[in-house]
Amino acid sequence: MSDPHKAGNAYDYPLLIKHLLHTPLANAPQQEIVYADRSRHDYLIFRQRIGRLAHVLHTLGVRQDSTVAVMDWDSNRYLECFFAIPMMGAVLHTINVRLAPEQMLYTINHAEDDFILVHTEFVPLLEQIYDRMERPVKIIMLSDNAEAELALDAVGEYEDLLTQATAEFDFPDFDEQTRATTFYTTGTTGNPKGVYYSHRQLVLHTLGACAGLASADKQGWFRRGDVYMPITPMFHVHGWGIPYVATLMGVKQVYPGRYAPDRLLSLIDREKVTFSHCVPTILHMLLSDQLVNDIDLSNWRVAIGGAALPRGLAETALAHGIDVFSAYGMSETCPFISAAHLDAAVISAGPEEQLKYRCKTGRAAPMVEMRVVDETMNDVPHDGRTTGEVVVRAPWLTQGYLKDKEKSEELWSGGYLHTGDIGHIDENGYLKVTDRLKDVIKSGGEWISSLSLEDIVSTHPAVGEVAAIGIPDEQWGERPMLLIVRTDQSATVESIQQHIQKHVDAGDLTKWAIPDRVEFVDAIVKTSVGKIDKKLIRQQYVK
Ligand code: AMP
Repeated sequence: MSDPHKAGNAYDYPLLIKHLLHTPLANAPQQEIVYADRSRHDYLIFRQRIGRLAHVLHTLGVRQDSTVAVMDWDSNRYLECFFAIPMMGAVLHTINVRLAPEQMLYTINHAEDDFILVHTEFVPLLEQIYDRMERPVKIIMLSDNAEAELALDAVGEYEDLLTQATAEFDFPDFDEQTRATTFYTTGTTGNPKGVYYSHRQLVLHTLGACAGLASADKQGWFRRGDVYMPITPMFHVHGWGIPYVATLMGVKQVYPGRYAPDRLLSLIDREKVTFSHCVPTILHMLLSDQLVNDIDLSNWRVAIGGAALPRGLAETALAHGIDVFSAYGMSETCPFISAAHLDAAVISAGPEEQLKYRCKTGRAAPMVEMRVVDETMNDVPHDGRTTGEVVVRAPWLTQGYLKDKEKSEELWSGGYLHTGDIGHIDENGYLKVTDRLKDVIKSGGEWISSLSLEDIVSTHPAVGEVAAIGIPDEQWGERPMLLIVRTDQSATVESIQQHIQKHVDAGDLTKWAIPDRVEFVDAIVKTSVGKIDKKLIRQQYVK
């Protein structure tokens, strides 16, 4: 007899990625998906192309236990891979095309790729490592140019293969816990670590992020009427998972290809893009381009994540009419954890308060339990001051690192995912990440937040970009050091120190945060996903 306390299911609806497609196909079949200047089609064609791609891959031998990797710029093809590959029950490996060839090879072997779909631009890269792949790998070429020649014994070119295939493909039901995607995160030491997600996790992340963004009250929303363009590479945490959200909502989507500031700005202008997300350095790059002064950005909402939103950058963006705000997450969290949406009380408190809240790390997204804890896993007070480590639970967090039991257990010690970030939560539930545990500057017994210091320096009128690191000091343990890209010569060591001093006098920072050493540089090194690379800066400056 069935248990009367269990609700039971007539059809045990598995949370599979294929089910994200019902709503857009029913409600928005004619909505457009645009790939830069190259293609434009509706969701009906998109669905057919998913079927064709699955047909091609199946004919070539892809099965439920296969791993299919992609090396492409952001494109409609990539979006098709986001769906077709996991919908077949295979695993999608999104290769970070910015990794060094040796690291890339490591990820290809570690993920056990069977197929690689590679854009012609990355063929030379793949040629360097092809002979050292540990498994037989079949190559499919992705080309933006009809005349491109096949290389690496490729079985064919994507568009050619799709044209020859039928759109009919019967995507089966299977266990929602099946692994759908894998990608690699580069830690501070050792080899890249594989992070992986199941269908269930990706579907719940899509629903959670959709609810979190669409329910925003006064600003920072992402809703049906929007036009979406990601500026976070699709290889990095599935473009922060927002392409799945955009597809579920059936919004117009614009994929920009390789990121070049003038192309991105022209697309925003021409396609009337209203919602994007990126790391601060990308927004900084766009706002430093000449073209920015010729286009209207006042309908553009931009979620900034991957690193803290510096106050100076937020001010510049707001001056262009952009609705800029922070969002938070990491590779291991799928990634959406929180967003800094302003509520009515903050808005009515005026521009200064709004700016402050836009630059916080945000309130927890639906279904996310976000805590700040001390070393014994006790919650610290929510007073907007007391810091601890941010730990989280949500139904979409990675369960660990691929084939790495020890690091997986470390990640989840105490039953919560440890972000490795330090922060505080205020009375209204807004988190502010003040540093990475490993980036905090420990000077004379004080913990100086490198992010707060950067934030303050970013508001100096002649500072373009800034990075703060701790350098060893015999007397104080560490002392802060700044790297600055200045916009004009009025940024001198003295003027920077005076600028920080004002904030020390106002009680925003400890006096130990005033650096003795300031280096003016032409550029600040970035990681493969465009964030300030503090590991490399330390290697350069800490001897
Ligand atoms: P990744 O795994 O490369 O996406 O990096 C995730 C890390 O970026 C987090 O653990 C944080 O240290 C940092 N991060 C992401 N979003 C924010 C944010 N809004 N504010 C501050 N740091 C952030």
